[in-house]
Amino acid sequence: MKLLVKNGHIIRWNAASQVEQLQNHHVLIEDQSVRDIVTTMPPTFQPDEIIDATNCAVVPGLINTHHHLYQSLTRCLKSVQDAKLFDWLLGLYEVWRKLDFEAVKLGSQISMAEMLLSGCTTTNDMFYVYPRESDVKAEAVIEGAAELGMRIHAGRGSMSLGRSAGGLPPDDVVQSEPAIVKDCERIIHRFHDHKPFAMTRIDLMPCSPFSITFDLLKETRTLAKSHGVLCHTHVAETMDETEFCLKKFNKRPADYLASADWIGPDVSWAHCVCLNAAEVKLMADTRTAAAHCPSSNMLLGSGIPPVCELLRAGVTVGLGVDGSSSNNGAHVLGECRQALLLQRVKNGAESFTSEDALRIGTLGGAKLLNRTGELGNIAPGHAADLAIFDLNAVEYAGAAAQDPLGALMLCSPTRAKFVIVNGRVVVRYGQLATVHLPKLVERMNEAVRKRFRTAR
Ligand SMILES: [Zn+2]
Repeated sequence: MKLLVKNGHIIRWNAASQVEQLQNHHVLIEDQSVRDIVTTMPPTFQPDEIIDATNCAVVPGLINTHHHLYQSLTRCLKSVQDAKLFDWLLGLYEVWRKLDFEAVKLGSQISMAEMLLSGCTTTNDMFYVYPRESDVKAEAVIEGAAELGMRIHAGRGSMSLGRSAGGLPPDDVVQSEPAIVKDCERIIHRFHDHKPFAMTRIDLMPCSPFSITFDLLKETRTLAKSHGVLCHTHVAETMDETEFCLKKFNKRPADYLASADWIGPDVSWAHCVCLNAAEVKLMADTRTAAAHCPSSNMLLGSGIPPVCELLRAGVTVGLGVDGSSSNNGAHVLGECRQALLLQRVKNGAESFTSEDALRIGTLGGAKLLNRTGELGNIAPGHAADLAIFDLNAVEYAGAAAQDPLGALMLCSPTRAKFVIVNGRVVVRYGQLATVHLPKLVERMNEAVRKRFRTAR
């Protein structure tokens, strides 16, 4: 299958990882990868499909490095709209105990649909709520992604410490530790694809260092290493969490994780809001990556993560929208802008540029997922993951004539016109090409009205 993206304004990374803007260039795609970027079509390249990218910006598919896809089922939940993290979680667990396979698949597809339409081609997912009486399985998310044509790092989440054991969640939404380990192994064997261009990878993602025992934290890490899969968890999201860990373990969250070997280039920590200078250095020295979720940190009032400090120290930083219950949106292009704005609030106007914002949304994410050279850029041999935005949109009027990259990062975000994942067109003219979205939205609102709505 040969695909031609014709006459676009290409925004990509050069060999020195600096942004490069190429006007009126064509991207030649063959099967799942980019073959070349050219100004004149080679006569031997006979495309099966041509996408006209005239007056469009063509950027590497955006990468979302932190999400809980099912949470669109409980976005804007009235009872927790104004709560901070721990109260927010306590309120939500009461509703999440109603989750089943169909609901999780539906909620996940809504989140992914929203992300694809925002130019995102690869997403992380941490799914960690397995209520005792429910038929929920990891397959709900994995099948959902396959139907939409989205690349996914599906995380096997876990919680084993219920309220009676000093944890936050009710006892009936946590699992026994042997059951967790068994299911981690099951889905790695069944779904993890280690090959280049894999559409499905399995990562191991305990919900947080304090939602499972220290033994399971260590065992999960050993299991991940033995299978060559990545590890990801929430770390240092709030001051409450730091105090909780100091009281319970006599260690700050980062120290506690380091003591369980949860550091290294195959480990990423979501949030990293409450890090001190020594912890930033620890991440740099151990090449542990950070998934930055600006909207979620703002909505829950968690704080401003030291992203500029992390980047200066050489830490890999990816971008995350976080779950749709703590962001309420999953617009990954818009999240690049949020990251830029939030760092500027703390560090000033010169601290974080449009290039920095695109970098964490593409190259940074690829590196966090251990997929450098495969994802995050438009270059020969890379996966054909592209997002194409119409620069004639009113949101970019004037800005596009000034600086297309600045337009995408600084103006109000728009819907992608075309999105290509692994060489397959999954968004055409701003509409999903793989599923009928209006039907999905209708089913979603119906499910929420019937089962997931709360009185204030
Ligand atoms: Zn999260």
